[in-house]
Amino acid sequence: MRFETKLIHSGDEQARVMGAVCMPVFQSTMYELAGEQGYDNIRYIRLNNTPNHLQLHQTLTSLENGEAALVTASGMAAISTSLLSMLNAGDHLLAQKGLYGGTHSFITEDLPRFGITFDFIDGDDADSWKRKLRPNTKAIYVESITNPLLRVADLKAVVAFARENELFSMIDNTFATPANFRAAEFGFDLSIHSCTKYLNGHSDIVAGCVIGKKERIRRITHTLNHLGGALDPHACFLLYRGIKTLAVRMNYINQSTLRIAQSLENHPAVEKVNYPGLSAHPRHQRAAELFSGFGGVLSFELKGGLAAAETLIQRLKLPIHTVSLGGPETLITRPSVTSHAGLTEQDQKSLGLSEGLLRLSIGLESTEDLIEDFNNALQ
Ligand SMILES: *Cc1c(COP(=O)(O)O)cnc(C)c1O
Repeated sequence: MRFETKLIHSGDEQARVMGAVCMPVFQSTMYELAGEQGYDNIRYIRLNNTPNHLQLHQTLTSLENGEAALVTASGMAAISTSLLSMLNAGDHLLAQKGLYGGTHSFITEDLPRFGITFDFIDGDDADSWKRKLRPNTKAIYVESITNPLLRVADLKAVVAFARENELFSMIDNTFATPANFRAAEFGFDLSIHSCTKYLNGHSDIVAGCVIGKKERIRRITHTLNHLGGALDPHACFLLYRGIKTLAVRMNYINQSTLRIAQSLENHPAVEKVNYPGLSAHPRHQRAAELFSGFGGVLSFELKGGLAAAETLIQRLKLPIHTVSLGGPETLITRPSVTSHAGLTEQDQKSLGLSEGLLRLSIGLESTEDLIEDFNNALQ
């Protein structure tokens, strides 16, 4: 099956309960015992093995052509559980600079308490990675497209470097989505998503997942069974429903975001636009080779700096001023006071994050209406 068909039919083995075209919500904590072997196989919601879980695992596996998948209670549950399952006390992690805020603080504040050390690497400079390698380095962790500056690391080199040095390669593939980049098929050992964003796509649940090799997913599931971050069956149902339209949504969002990025880039009040789909993006060529679309997030700076940015947020009629991304509604935030507020001024500066930077998550509204709204507000 091709990608669009998989979105509709890949979970079918679990479906058609009593002929129902849609899998019902299995709102049952536990299931009658049927000779299961081992704790992880007893059917119970926390053990991530109800029919709603199994259906999602099948679908998510097939979307990235992985071997197995696990759905979790949030993106952060997928990230923290994967890292904790992967790394032991005494291990060392290489992580890309400029990661999602929650991941950054989990690595810097929580992992050291378990005796796990880390170094940050420049995702663009493959030659520098070797110098950070230690005998106890176990894994390398990157994002497909970073937030809010939309950088694209040398992902091909990451996979090759991990293989050469016997590291596990992990990627947060939330921004690209399986529609634009199939990280597991590409060669990453683990592909992680915040399903809160594009996979669900409707701004109404929090969820996550990890896709990868069978044995690794089995171990992560065992850890998640202890940590307890299981997705509720009703949220599983909503996520499965959202996933069905991923291809049509991303197709529209890829096109709409590119047009809006181009329109902003050509506006005299705009200083700079960050979007990998623009030919001016420093890694446009790399992004075009890696991805089949450039996604729905862009960031930009105005010539009038912080004051102009704050006025623009007030003047825009359509974009909602709030955090998160990946839903049907276009959203706008100022990362230096929201997603990246936890970083020191020094860290923000070294990332290249200015206080007037605005981030957009383009939704499913008419592209023309959004462009008109921006033009009016910028005027
Ligand atoms: C939102 C997000 C997360 C965290 O996901 P939650 O579902 O909020 O826990 C992790 N990584 C990226 C890139 C995100 O955008």
